[in-house]
Amino acid sequence: MIPLLGGLKKGLVFVISAPAGTGKTTLVRMLRDEFHCLIESVSFTTRKPRTSEKEGVDYFFISKEAFEQKIREGEFLEHAQVFDNYYGTSKIFVEKEREKGKHVILIIDTQGALQLMQKLDAVFIFISPPSLEELKNRLYRRNADTDETIALRLSWAEKEMALAPRYNYHIINENLKIAYDVLRSILIAEEHRNPPQ
Ligand code: 5GP
Repeated sequence: MIPLLGGLKKGLVFVISAPAGTGKTTLVRMLRDEFHCLIESVSFTTRKPRTSEKEGVDYFFISKEAFEQKIREGEFLEHAQVFDNYYGTSKIFVEKEREKGKHVILIIDTQGALQLMQKLDAVFIFISPPSLEELKNRLYRRNADTDETIALRLSWAEKEMALAPRYNYHIINENLKIAYDVLRSILIAEEHRNPPQ
């Protein structure tokens, strides 16, 4: 049975960080399919779209100049440079959805999450692979990156994984079904949490 969720007047924010190849996209997709009270935040980026990506669905793709203008105008809840590109979460996007009662999921890197820990009442979740060795195997199996990019992703993953204890929850995705059960349990529990008195 699907638990009845989505009864809050103002939605919650879930911040998820995970190295590439951890299964975060699959896990969040499963969560969205089960719980319609959830929406994934659409970030702005200066990265070029990949062939399967759609404007306004995967990201809002903008130029570096337009991104810098948005920083000056204070439009981002957080922003960071990840590898060679800028990424930022739109304040208005998140606020509008929360006001509709939707829970907003931000899938952002650790730099962005650390900024939000200072200023936003949100639920912070880190998803790890079982080990760096397993992550390396998954990245090779995925066949999406060159050896050089994989080496870069692995060294960045190691740095990100060292920050996992700073998050409220840490899920190790060794088995997708178990990881998903933990993730959905967090959502259900957080929706039932009393606000501080
Ligand atoms: P990709 O280019 O593969 O879509 O994303 C690269 C990294 O940027 C991922 O770790 C992703 O979570 C992160 N990212 C995506 N959007 C944002 C954002 O708005 N802010 C921050 N800080 N990181 C983001």
